[in-house]
Amino acid sequence: MTTRRRISILGATGSIGASTLDLVRRSPERWEVAALTANCQAAELAALAREFGAEFAAVGDESCLPALREALAGSGIATGGGASSLVEAGERPADIVVAAIVGCAGLAPTMAAIAQGRAVALANKEALVSAGPVMTAAVARHGTTLLPVDSEHNAIFQCLAGNDPADVRAITLTASGGPFRTWSAEQLAAATPVQAVQHPNWDMGAKISVDSATMFNKGLELIEAHHLFPVGLEKLRIVVHPQSVVHSMVEYRDGSTLAQLGPSDMRVPIASALAWPARMDTPCAPLDLAALGTLTFEAPDEIRFPATRLARQAAEAGGAMPAVLNAANEVAVAAFLSGQIGFTRIPAIVAEVLGRCSPPAPVSLSDVVAADAEARRAAQSMMEPA
Ligand code: NAD
Ligand code: MG
Repeated sequence: MTTRRRISILGATGSIGASTLDLVRRSPERWEVAALTANCQAAELAALAREFGAEFAAVGDESCLPALREALAGSGIATGGGASSLVEAGERPADIVVAAIVGCAGLAPTMAAIAQGRAVALANKEALVSAGPVMTAAVARHGTTLLPVDSEHNAIFQCLAGNDPADVRAITLTASGGPFRTWSAEQLAAATPVQAVQHPNWDMGAKISVDSATMFNKGLELIEAHHLFPVGLEKLRIVVHPQSVVHSMVEYRDGSTLAQLGPSDMRVPIASALAWPARMDTPCAPLDLAALGTLTFEAPDEIRFPATRLARQAAEAGGAMPAVLNAANEVAVAAFLSGQIGFTRIPAIVAEVLGRCSPPAPVSLSDVVAADAEARRAAQSMMEPA
């Protein structure tokens, strides 16, 4: 008989949350669900909490707590609302906490899980990008592990296993190039939110879909990789690979390049993180390379897609600049999705905020939150009519 492992999922109602719960649903004998969270979506969260017998369900938006309470009345499941309840969800005893909230909103609960020494399966890249050394220092201090769920970082994690980081010559992140990979500058200027969220290979939440279209997703991932795999920024590369089959690769000093391949299904990297250092089954169809036929690679175009260049600059500057880049991007993406600004304004706003804001280098979580807030205010002020 296997012992059941306790799992909490921060952001349970999202795309990563659903993929994680799909795996849990397939082997209920292996899992005990401690906490599930959402921003609001009270009915959806309550249904999941009942289905999985969660001990605790929490909504980040406190105004949604009455609806959650009502939906869970008589279930015996504890409920919470507001930022402190997300932190409580992160702190609850668990063997693994899946950090799958989108944006810097997931930072405090993720840090809370780390502070309790929980292993964290990290999808919420914005939290690591913003907090950088504050988060990695906490991971080291509390003797816990960050297991990357982002497909590229999970691939790199697997390709590094058993090797000496000193032998690494380069790490190459692959990028699909997003839905606008072949679009001209004129077409990009007219791109709509509906077009931006239609990703060719992956089915994801709206924010990361827009990030994929601007290439900020790859920019954030470059910074994420810099913190997860500290081999030096100059060894981190990006290559566009439209088929999203090779999820990333590590080149060693002897000329060997190790790559991880798999279907474009987040259940593969999630399963890798959940079962690590062992393996578990997924229902994903195996790769059929003969059917795929051709895998192609091309250099990123940083003229049409300046995001990766801006991210590299922010990473080189270090300190609070990655948090500034992330916060400005979050504000710009939300404004684009609500029809307030055009697509190409997103990198323009981020570049301008990077030029305007230079908060002190964070040494604590509250410093990161302050830098994030300063950059949000600066980005917000650019939304107002000139
Ligand atoms: P999503 O929008 O589908 O889900 C986000 C989840 O976070 C939902 O449960 C939502 O209720 C919750 N949430 C949103 N705002 C919140 C707030 N302010 N406070 C508390 N909770 C909030 O997003 P997703 O696509 O699942 O992505 C989640 C994270 O995983 C992101 O950081 C994303 O970059 C990363 N990621 C996603 C994918 C993917 O395939 N979807 C792949 C790699 C990495
Ligand atoms: Mg990714």
